[in-house]
Amino acid sequence: MRTEVLVRVSPSVRAVQVPDDDPMHPQCTTIYLVGNGQALAIDSGEAVDRYRWMLRGYLAAVERCDIALAAVTHHHADHSGNLRWAREVFGATVLVPRNGRTLLRGRLPSRGVELLADGQVIELDGGVRVRVLETPGHTRDSLCFYLEDEGVLFTGDTMLGSTTTTVSDLAAYRATLRRLLELPNLEVICPGHGPLIFDPRERIQAYIAHRDERERQILEFLERAGRPVTSWEIMLALYPDIHPRLRRAADNNVRAHLEQLAREGRLEVTPGIPREPDPERRAREAEHAREQERVIRLARKYEAARRRALIRAQESPPTEVWKRPPRYRLVGRARE
Ligand SMILES: [Zn+2]
Repeated sequence: MRTEVLVRVSPSVRAVQVPDDDPMHPQCTTIYLVGNGQALAIDSGEAVDRYRWMLRGYLAAVERCDIALAAVTHHHADHSGNLRWAREVFGATVLVPRNGRTLLRGRLPSRGVELLADGQVIELDGGVRVRVLETPGHTRDSLCFYLEDEGVLFTGDTMLGSTTTTVSDLAAYRATLRRLLELPNLEVICPGHGPLIFDPRERIQAYIAHRDERERQILEFLERAGRPVTSWEIMLALYPDIHPRLRRAADNNVRAHLEQLAREGRLEVTPGIPREPDPERRAREAEHAREQERVIRLARKYEAARRRALIRAQESPPTEVWKRPPRYRLVGRARE
């Protein structure tokens, strides 16, 4: 499905869909605006210009409003990268999950931060009411926002537009999906990445079925193996065609299943042995990071110097092109 850059979702909701080519973010990363006049932004993208310009351009060209409230669905940097910027540029109050505050350290403004908890209602102009739902599973601070009057649910990464998501706590995630299924009046899901979901209940059911199916596949693999195996072996068998960059995410999902099965007493677990920290390697990595920083700083300096030189050259062309500059001498007299 093709995605449009700007979409009106419901009377109070607009989607600003920013194209994204990261395999973790199929098709787009979306910032949602809720309410007219003083708007609520749900997620604000990565801390790169693309998101800021899209948002500012959109607000300037289409909307006559500022962002009064900037909320996030969870602490991941592709959702929360512009909170400080939203505070600086719009003076927005920043709304973050109460469980996410420490995870968001370094990305929050020093003032104007409020914590969100389950059941809280965000009241906007014109009687628009957005309810906060704590929906752990993708991360432990994951929130959804529900605008029940218009049937619009904002899910962040709890549900995605075109794929399933990664899960850190499977039992919590399953409970979250069951809870979302119970929401009254649900019409459309606004995910953090990918297209809008217009068959919300079917999709939630499909997510639940998908997790059940994965669990069945994992149990069958374990049975066939008949020996202790790692989550990575299971992942490779279950996701044979996966993009290499997504393997670790898939492995995490398999591990979430294994942890739940272990808690249920269905697995015998041989504990892993963590790798010894290697001080030499750590020192090498730190040195490499410092070197990168140095090169980046230098490159920025050269870039700026070159830009300045170009502008200077336009206004005052260089004189050193002459070995000997032309000379001019008056013919006759100054007054004829
Ligand atoms: Zn994300």
